[in-house]
This record gives sequence, C-alpha cells and structure tokens, in this order.
Amino acid sequence: MAKIHFLDLTFAELREILLSWGEPKFRAGQVWRWVYHNQIFDPAEMSNLPKELRQRLAQEFQFSLLRPLERIASQDGLTEKVLFETEDAQTVEAVLMRYRERNSVCISSQIGCPIGCPFCATGQSGFVRNLSAGEIAAQVLYFSQILRGERKRVTHVVLMGMGEPLLNFDAVWQAILSLNDPRGFGLGARHFTISTAGVIPGIERLAGEDLEVGLAVSLHAPDDALRDVLVPINKRYPLKDLMTAVRAYIERRGRRVTFEYALIAGVNDAEAQAQQTADLLRGLLCHVNLIPLNPTAGSSWRPSPVEKVRKFQEILEENGVRTTVRLRRGIDIQAGCGQLRHKHLLKEN
Ligand code: SAH
Ligand code: SF4
Repeated sequence: MAKIHFLDLTFAELREILLSWGEPKFRAGQVWRWVYHNQIFDPAEMSNLPKELRQRLAQEFQFSLLRPLERIASQDGLTEKVLFETEDAQTVEAVLMRYRERNSVCISSQIGCPIGCPFCATGQSGFVRNLSAGEIAAQVLYFSQILRGERKRVTHVVLMGMGEPLLNFDAVWQAILSLNDPRGFGLGARHFTISTAGVIPGIERLAGEDLEVGLAVSLHAPDDALRDVLVPINKRYPLKDLMTAVRAYIERRGRRVTFEYALIAGVNDAEAQAQQTADLLRGLLCHVNLIPLNPTAGSSWRPSPVEKVRKFQEILEENGVRTTVRLRRGIDIQAGCGQLRHKHLLKEN
C-alpha cells in the first residue's frame, strides 16, 4: 500500500488518524509541531513521542515529497533557486529571496501551466499536472530549513513560480491553511500572495475566504486584443469582467490589489498603452509593478529599454496610479518563472 504523505494531511485528518491508532488527543499537535514548527521530517528525532508511535509514523507516513536536484545561488548569494524532483520524476522549481529583513519564498502551484502565455518559460513548456497541497507546502518548508541554519525565518510566501494557483485552488488553499496554522508554521495570512493571470471564479472564491491573503493580477496589456495574445486566458475572462471581479474583491476586502505588468519592447510599452492602462486603473485601490521582461529561450521578445520603462511609469504616476519598477533579481540564475526547469528539460532531450 502506498504510504500517506504527511504534508498532504490537514490537521483534522492527522488528528483522526492518530485517534484511530488509540493515541491521546494532544498527539496531533505534537507531531504537527515537529514537522511544521521544527521542520523535523524524521520521526526518529521526534523525541517527546513514544518509541512505538515514532516507528508507526515512519512506517505509515512518508515525510519527504520533493528531492532537491539542483540548487544555485545568485552571485551576491542572496537569491537561491532550487529545482526539485517529484515522486513521479517531474521537476518543479522554487526561489528564495533574501532582502534586508524579508525572506520571501516564491513557489510553484503546478507542473507547467495550461494558460500558455508566450513570454513565460513555464507557459512555453505546456502543462503536466497540479501539485498536491503537500508538494506546495514542501517547497516553503525546504527553504525554511535552510533559513533556520541562519537563524532566519520565511517572512513571505508568493505563489509566483510555475503554474496558475487559482486553477489549483483546493491544493493551494490547503497548503496556505497548513502553513498559516499557529500550531506549527504560523505564517500570517497577509504574508501570502497569490498571483493570477485572471481566473475570475478563483478571484471570487478568494474574496469570500476567511483568511485574507494578498492578491496580484498579471495584467500585461490594457486592451483585449493584445491581452488575448499575451495572457490567452483573457479570451475566456476578458478585461471588463476581470476588472469587475477585481473591483468586487477590493470592495469586499478593503485591501489593495497589485497588478503585474511585464514590459516587452515594442509590444506593450508604448505611451498610448501606458495611458490606456492608467485609464483602466485610475481610482482603484491598487499598485502596479512594472517588470522589464525577463527574456526566455522560447521567445524573441526583449525587455523594454530603461527610458521606455521610465516613461511608462511617469504616465501612470501622473494619473495617480502608484507604481514600482521591479528589477528581476537573480537573473543570473534563471530566477524567472519556469526557466531553470526549462534548461533542465533541454539538457535531457
Ligand atoms: N500564473 C500566475 C502566477 C505565476 S507567473 C500568473 O501568471 O500571475 C508569476 C508572474 O511572473 C506573472 O506576473 C507572470 O506574468 C510573470 N512572468 C512570467 N514570465 C515572465 C517573464 N519572462 N518576464 C517577466 N515576468 C514574467
Ligand atoms: Fe502560466 Fe503565469 Fe506563466 Fe502565464 S505567466 S503561462 S499564467 S505561469
């Protein structure tokens, strides 16, 4: 019989199992704490548990889901990217970014992505499958273990790696609940950010959830004709409907939404497009991240030159739309979405 993956269990499920083994009620909390708080994945080391229970845990559960295949650091050592191998020999990547007091982990929600944005390495590689809740949480715990050695903690988790989180809502949400649970990892809801290409039903569901996590929407174009090309799910969820959903989200939550806009030379960086973007977002409780495109092997598109980026930003700001220009950190380690896996796949073929 296949073993149960510990990280795929909710706290309630763990409690049920341990009760069915005849363990006292408080056991679930102890075991949960070992894994999520201490990041101990070997039951033999769970020193406050009875020996028989440690043995049974080892027999019936599997604690490691992802095997790190490749780990590379940026030149300044602050950004690290890891390529993991899953049990079915797929690969998935995650990035740790240390920045002053912040230690952000950027994680994946799917292997590949069905949306297929042409500028994105993940989109170019097609879709394989959803990650399980455990596989999503495991990426965070892996980096947490590394940071522990530096007496640091993961302070932010962003779902901006491979895949579209809102197309794998249940697993993503379960992972967030597990990591948020104060009995273990205890990372505050506001320290999670979900980035979406604009999956409206997911945005609506997020608006109604008890936990309030951050929302980022990948805009990339101010009109449907161009957005249909850059973010193909726009054909299903066009801009007008998307903006209605985002507006409803902001109203319900009273919380600022982030828009991501990757600036691609000669494609979406014209002054007229900046003006259109400003018209679309004016008056909205939002912030725009302008990100010069990270070039990928599968596309000839290039990042906008600095002057264009500045001009685009200036136009938004003049219209009262707040912006930040984000330089992709760790470009020297292919820290862009899906790029390390892409390189790995090329090596294999
Ligand atoms: N699927 C989700 C989350 C993962 S992608 C989404 O699209 O929002 C995370 C962010 O990286 C998105 O804003 C995406 O548009 C952006 N991105 C992907 N490839 C990029 C590239 N080559 N250069 C710049 N940004 C990129
Ligand atoms: Fe998927 Fe996001 Fe990449 Fe688009 S940008 S292909 S939605 S991961």
